[in-house]
Amino acid sequence: MKLLILDRDGVINHDSDAYIRSVGEWIPIPGSIEAIAQLSKAGWTVAVATNQSGIARGYYDLATLDAMHARLRALVAEQGGEVGLIVYCPHGPDEGCDCRKPKPGMLQTIARHYQVELAGLWFVGDSSSDLKAALAVDSQPVLVKTGKGEKTLAGSLPASTLVFDDLAAVAAELIHNSAPQNN
Ligand SMILES: [Mg+2]
Ligand SMILES: [Zn+2]
Repeated sequence: MKLLILDRDGVINHDSDAYIRSVGEWIPIPGSIEAIAQLSKAGWTVAVATNQSGIARGYYDLATLDAMHARLRALVAEQGGEVGLIVYCPHGPDEGCDCRKPKPGMLQTIARHYQVELAGLWFVGDSSSDLKAALAVDSQPVLVKTGKGEKTLAGSLPASTLVFDDLAAVAAELIHNSAPQNN
C-alpha cells in the first residue's frame, strides 16, 4: 500500500504557540485539504500522528480534539477523499510516554495498524521532533515550510531531509513524480 503519515499542526492546519484549543481555531492551511483529498484519490492512505499535550495541560478535552478531527475528515470528504488513522499523544512532555514525538511510538502504532514497514515511508512535519521521529524508525523525514517549518529549516536538519513549501507540494511530488512503494 501507499501510506503517507502527516503531522497535524503546522502541516494540515495553522499552528499557534497558544495551542489549537477549539474547532473554531482549527483552520486549514490553504491547499492542505485538497492535497489530502488528491492523495487519497490517487490511492494513498493518509494517516496523521500529532502531539496534543494541550490535553494533558487541560487546554481542551478529548471531545474537542475528536471534533477537530471530525472537521478534518468532513472537509476532506467534501473534496472526495478520505483521511486514514489519526493517532495523537495526549501526554505532557514530562510524562515519559512512548508516543510523544520525537519518540516514534505513534508512527509504530500506524505501521502496526496497516501492517507495513516504516522504513522509507514518508513522514511529513514542520518541527525537528517530527524529523527525529522519522529518523528513529528509518522513515524518510520530510519538512514543510508551513507552521514552524521555516524556523526548523534555519536549524540543523538530518542530512536526508526532503524539504517542500507545503503539503500541496508534497502531494504533487508523490502523485506526479516519485512514488515510494511500501509493502
Ligand atoms: Mg507540527
Ligand atoms: Zn504520549
